[in-house]
Amino acid sequence: MLVARPGHPERDKEYGSGDDDAEDRAADCGCHDRMRAQHDSDFSLLARLEAHRGGHGCACRAGAVAGVTSIKNPVSAARKVMENSPHVLLIDGGAEEFAKKQGLEIVDPSYFITPKMKERWEKSNKQDPKEVKGQEKKPGTVGAVALDQNGNLAAATSTGGMMNKMHGRIGDSPIIGAGTYANNNTCAVSCTGHGEYFIRNVVAYDISAMMEYRGMPMEEAAKTVIQEKLKSQGADGGLIAVNKEGRIVMEFNTNAMFRGYINSDGQKEVMIY
Ligand code: ASP
Repeated sequence: MLVARPGHPERDKEYGSGDDDAEDRAADCGCHDRMRAQHDSDFSLLARLEAHRGGHGCACRAGAVAGVTSIKNPVSAARKVMENSPHVLLIDGGAEEFAKKQGLEIVDPSYFITPKMKERWEKSNKQDPKEVKGQEKKPGTVGAVALDQNGNLAAATSTGGMMNKMHGRIGDSPIIGAGTYANNNTCAVSCTGHGEYFIRNVVAYDISAMMEYRGMPMEEAAKTVIQEKLKSQGADGGLIAVNKEGRIVMEFNTNAMFRGYINSDGQKEVMIY
């Protein structure tokens, strides 16, 4: 489920910033981290919250955790990395130790194993990997992008990763510029899909770069990357993005992508196909 939220003055007062909102949307968009759990010995959660303060000498900021199995809300951990550490990406035990010290809730890894995901994993595990297609390959992403009333853009992405991945495999979600990116000069992007392609194509940053350096509208940049670049490589996926004017785009080249948005007027919509 990917959620976009262009600036909302009332809620901005309540939450304070686009960072808060991206974190909150990722945490409570109706599914929480459990939705993405997969029963797999290589089970990991990947998350990142990033805000890039463009212009006026403001510093860009990013935080990520990867390969974690016990942090209840990995996006909150990613935000702590961004705000309270000198680093950008922490992995495995180091990330979990840091999250614990930061006061975040730690759970037993079994918390993430839901019956539905277990069933899906068992089914896909019995098949020839080449036969496992589309939605069966991945448990789904929780992503959020937000623009606040001060013009700050933020993005957050959290996932259990691809089904049946190799032990130690990290996808695009916690890789800056691949699965998640935000830049106040352009847009905030959160991606879902076959992570290896999103990393190779530096997808989220590519959208921003086309806008920044070529003056391309966000909609065209998203279409070019998802429908042309990725499709020509046989890569499944999609993304949501919000630009600095509050326009949103939800582009995907799969049959479906769970998605929704709420705007400043309280208008909201959820869509699948
Ligand atoms: N992009 C993720 C990965 O490759 C999968 C997902 O869409 O959740 O790990």
